Amino acid sequence: MKVADIFETMEYGPAPESAAPAEQWLDRHGREFEHFIGGEWQAPVEGEYFETYNPADGKPIARVAQGSEGDVDRAVRAARAAFPAWRDLGGHARARYLYALARLVQRHSRLFAVLESIDNGKPIRESRDIDIPLVARHFYHHAGWAQLMESEFPGYEPVGVAGQIIPWNFPLLMLAWKIAPALAMGNTVVLKPAEFTPLTALLFAEICQEAGLPQGVVNIVTGDGRTGAALAAHPDVDKIAFTGSTEVGRIIRTQTAGTGKKLSLELGGKSPFIVFEDADLDSVVEGVVDAIWFNQGQVCCAGSRILVQEGVAEGLIERLKARMEKLRVGDPLDKAIDIGAIVAPVQLERIERMVRQGVEEGATLWQPSWSCPKDGWFYPPTLFTDVAPAATIAQEEIFGPVVALMTFRTPEEAVALANNTRYGLAASIWTENINLALDIAAKVKAGTVWINCTNQFDAASGFGGYRESGFGREGGREGLWEYIRPKWEATAPVDEGSEHEARPVAGPVSGEGRVAGAGVGGAADSVGPAAAGAGADSVAGTRPAAAGLPAIDRTAKLFIGGKQVRPDSGYSYPVLNPSGVLVGEAALGNRKDIRNAVEAAHKATGWARTTAHNRAQVLYYLAENLSARADEFAERIALVTGADPGAAEREVACSIERLFLYAAWADKWDGAVHRTPFRNVTLAMPEPLGVMGIVCPDERPLLGFVSTVAPAIAMGNAVIAVPSQSAPLLATDFYQVLETSDVPGGVVNIVTGGRDELAEVLAAHDDVDGVWYFGPRKGCAAVERLSAGNMKRTWVSHGRRRDWFDPVQGAGEEFLRHATQVKNIWVPYGE
Ligand code: ADP
Repeated sequence: MKVADIFETMEYGPAPESAAPAEQWLDRHGREFEHFIGGEWQAPVEGEYFETYNPADGKPIARVAQGSEGDVDRAVRAARAAFPAWRDLGGHARARYLYALARLVQRHSRLFAVLESIDNGKPIRESRDIDIPLVARHFYHHAGWAQLMESEFPGYEPVGVAGQIIPWNFPLLMLAWKIAPALAMGNTVVLKPAEFTPLTALLFAEICQEAGLPQGVVNIVTGDGRTGAALAAHPDVDKIAFTGSTEVGRIIRTQTAGTGKKLSLELGGKSPFIVFEDADLDSVVEGVVDAIWFNQGQVCCAGSRILVQEGVAEGLIERLKARMEKLRVGDPLDKAIDIGAIVAPVQLERIERMVRQGVEEGATLWQPSWSCPKDGWFYPPTLFTDVAPAATIAQEEIFGPVVALMTFRTPEEAVALANNTRYGLAASIWTENINLALDIAAKVKAGTVWINCTNQFDAASGFGGYRESGFGREGGREGLWEYIRPKWEATAPVDEGSEHEARPVAGPVSGEGRVAGAGVGGAADSVGPAAAGAGADSVAGTRPAAAGLPAIDRTAKLFIGGKQVRPDSGYSYPVLNPSGVLVGEAALGNRKDIRNAVEAAHKATGWARTTAHNRAQVLYYLAENLSARADEFAERIALVTGADPGAAEREVACSIERLFLYAAWADKWDGAVHRTPFRNVTLAMPEPLGVMGIVCPDERPLLGFVSTVAPAIAMGNAVIAVPSQSAPLLATDFYQVLETSDVPGGVVNIVTGGRDELAEVLAAHDDVDGVWYFGPRKGCAAVERLSAGNMKRTWVSHGRRRDWFDPVQGAGEEFLRHATQVKNIWVPYGE
């Protein structure tokens, strides 16, 4: 070719990166790798190996050990043995190790990049300029957190041994996201890389040796899903961190339910890329390239649905096609290619199958005129137009370079389309109108929102999902909570829960039942001194019984949508005090009542949009009204729990204080502006979960109710509370306080009855976004297991008893954190 011809076509010549250093490294290891356990290479117990392949030519690269249960067990033991010393080393010493790892990643960065591209098929430009620099940045950033742990997280300690399971799309970056925070907070880890891409994790094992990291702090066990399953199931693992498909995430949620293991899941996505008609379309086109053709579209937060305003749709499609025609697919080690190879044949087949399905379902397919190389696993950039919102390609994750384009007319329609998915990982919004951008950012349900940019990541910012995209955050301060726990938990007494847990039995009060005391009014069908035949053993503080007269029916109802309503069952259950004296009756709520309450809560989600100041005012008002009736409540507590009057008064006083506390917090749970190294602000905004089920502790019937419901509503959630089963009357007495305190109907709904039965309905309900459960371990297990349906957030006590009076155990930021999830909004900003 002549120079003149080159000028004519402006064609790129090949610019290959040498594979030699990586090949030499592989040869040095005889192209066979064992597990890295306890600081040494250890042969797999069962002697099994598998091949890893180069996606660019389909040839095997190396043999890697297949981890068995025995290997996982050895690795967990090594991590356990290393844990105490690593924890006790102190923040500064751990910071030094993390800093050393960061330096070594940088020193070997080219080798890492080349090896990553060979094993995964991603373009060297991306592994060299994005993946590996982000890995180093992650270790540097977390070296800082190790240093700061003691001062920034007083009262917290490491969780212990973390089992970490990662996918193949960003092999080393996902390793860094998992290992850096775990180590910084004093945990030890067993990490299982994905079976398609284990090599850079093994090179990382070597740099752990080079850094002199204490043996057993980092263990790498290679293998497939069976190895991952063994790790998730290992009884001596304290925490599982998983990134991968929603399908496997759901299995792990179910498998770990009730074990007490902490769990964070970063799962699939179908992220919207929203283009308004005033957007800069040239930037949008480059945005789409980064959104869906970065890493061959094998990105969980890929902008795989373009939603474009009708007026500019045609123009955008035209520009996109022109750009796609110029994209270059080819050898990942060629520095001049844009799109590399698909990781494995099974993934390529999945892409091909879903594209066929897209066509069959009526969408219009467009691909560039050129063809892909044939000697590896390649797929061209693909655009679908005329896509119906319910089409499979608009709903299911493809995990390939395929984008579905849909149009909308109004911002409302854009939001509806954007949220028309079970996922909620990320979103990208393109407009020159800052008001519109921020308005939409607030309305889209996603953990990360990029404005006029896309696929930005940094160690200082949290990353993670809403809805079925999982829970927990990775990165920044937000991500560290996944690797620490309150110190008091270690010594808290645990309630296992028995097989024969008492459930309330329906039935009218029998003639033998003795009714003591009086309702605090309002909550009961009628008010007044209705006690009949209060026995001598009834508790101090009861009002005198009207001897000889029949008891007035004063069964407490349910509280749904701001109204007192009868339970669907028509039944009530007797409420006895600890001496067995009947103190009243409570409605026996069931599945149907919970459903009604969930519906009422959904109608009240405007509460989330009211100002934090207004929510604070309502909480102060609640405190004021409770305070006005403090004596009655104290009397009632004494009556139903047998507490002495002083303790009962203390419970009321503490409840009032809690309402003040969360009124105070309502407008102070601020979020942050993260210091990401880009020209933008990254706004970490805590948002309410939405509709929450709260199963209150059985003990401390007023304080336990107030301490759990108040933080949830302070943060803007609408709540369905199941109060203490044995002493529900304090919550039912609270109806009047709610009614007189300007709490909008539906914000607090109360369903009394069988705690575990109602908890299970809440946990399984698809329109509930989060469930808290403070009760025995057995019930915790059921809640976690049933939550897997829609992957709702759960916070359960694992049977640990809290001292509800204690300001750390019974109140504070832990409650606010669990009542919110962080949305990170990236906004380009200045120089
Ligand atoms: P992807 O669709 O991205 O491949 P997967 O969820 O299948 O995602 O895989 C992500 C990681 O989870 C991989 O390391 C894989 O080996 C592992 N894995 C697969 N099945 C299981 C399982 N049942 N339990 C634990 N880990 C699993």
